[in-house]
Amino acid sequence: MEAATIILVSACLIGIDCNYKGENNLESWVLDLCNSYLVIPVCPEQLGGLTTPRLPSELKEGDGESIWEGKKGCVINSKGEEFTQQFIFGAKQIIKISRIFGIRHAIMKDKSPSCGVFNIFDGSFSGNIIEGMGVTVAGLYYEGINIFSQKQKEEFSRMFLY
Ligand code: SF4
Repeated sequence: MEAATIILVSACLIGIDCNYKGENNLESWVLDLCNSYLVIPVCPEQLGGLTTPRLPSELKEGDGESIWEGKKGCVINSKGEEFTQQFIFGAKQIIKISRIFGIRHAIMKDKSPSCGVFNIFDGSFSGNIIEGMGVTVAGLYYEGINIFSQKQKEEFSRMFLY
């Protein structure tokens, strides 16, 4: 039997109510992939032990890469409480899942402090967006996983159709 292609996805993108509001960020094209691929939905913030709903968090003075490298940055919520270790713990669980399943491709929710692919919020909780990866996505990047955001339907389709 031919092995199905496995795609790791941010769980909120297929309609799981795991975001900080206890809601989802459904992207119908990502949900539709469940008909053709083995889709593994994950929420690193829940796996890191955070509650749902929860206060929003942002990365401050760094991004996922600088946090993994131990150089600079931390994760704080809108009350200023730090959750860096929970975010790293959650990211490590996702990396374990990726290794267990031999995952090579992922679709993650951009701008999230965990799942952001290209952009994150700047830590000021004022809606400012900067370039950078979330904590989990940076970990997946170091694993060599091919990561798309939910805005890259065309790029994803090109890769799998041609
Ligand atoms: Fe979605 Fe990732 Fe945030 Fe969980 S951590 S709600 S999967 S964006």
